[in-house]
Amino acid sequence: MATVVALLGIASSSALAAARTDCQPQAIRDLERLSPAGHAVYLAMRDKKQFLTFLTCEDVQLGLSTAVHESVHILTEQLNAYPLIGGGSVPRQHMVSRFYPPREIANKFNQHDNYVQTYLRRGAASSADDLMYLLDELNAYSHDLASATKLVDLHKRDGQVDHRAGLAALMAFLMQYVDVARERKTPTWEGLQRTEVKSLIATLWRQAESILVGSLPIRGFGGETYLTRLCERRNGDALGELLGGSPMSASVCGAIATAASPASAVAK
Ligand SMILES: [Zn+2]
Repeated sequence: MATVVALLGIASSSALAAARTDCQPQAIRDLERLSPAGHAVYLAMRDKKQFLTFLTCEDVQLGLSTAVHESVHILTEQLNAYPLIGGGSVPRQHMVSRFYPPREIANKFNQHDNYVQTYLRRGAASSADDLMYLLDELNAYSHDLASATKLVDLHKRDGQVDHRAGLAALMAFLMQYVDVARERKTPTWEGLQRTEVKSLIATLWRQAESILVGSLPIRGFGGETYLTRLCERRNGDALGELLGGSPMSASVCGAIATAASPASAVAK
């Protein structure tokens, strides 16, 4: 959603966006100081202009985290690998493109939800047709939330954008995808057991979970509906079987129960 909002912002106020690039030099210095992992994404970009296109000045926290997100997509294509937040990368596994299309899980979610519309609806993003791109989104949202969490001090306005909702949604989609695979998509379920595929999913999932946990102390970051779903034990059974351990640690779900309390809903 952060991406969609930013894109709409650029489309509808391109003159304004073009005029306001004055924040960018300071924003990059702030990124280096506050979010070295986000700054590493900036450094890795061969064409810095591609990063700066997404760095809007109305909300620098949102602009930077969106620029990191979109740049991760660009780097993933260039490297044919998912860049990781701690450095290094894991290769994409093209065989997962033959697995069943993620759009088949859309009916398990609220059809009006923005993330379902954007990432699972037929004819929407490539993630609706191909698990490889759903994993791409999971990784991009991990980087996005990792930076947004570190950049909270840059946020000058009241309230927060739902920075956590994107990652929580993509995690819920992957969890559901694996559940449906075990239930009725035997070729995909068998494919998921291949060592290189399993290891890729484990790496991206554990990274996502740790970033999600790191964001929990921040009020008003959103994603409550998806967080609750992630912590319903039976939803994670198949993914837990694949990973060889519970996909969400018990302490995390305790923290989520607290973060999802009405008090934080008001803060949003
Ligand atoms: Zn994306």
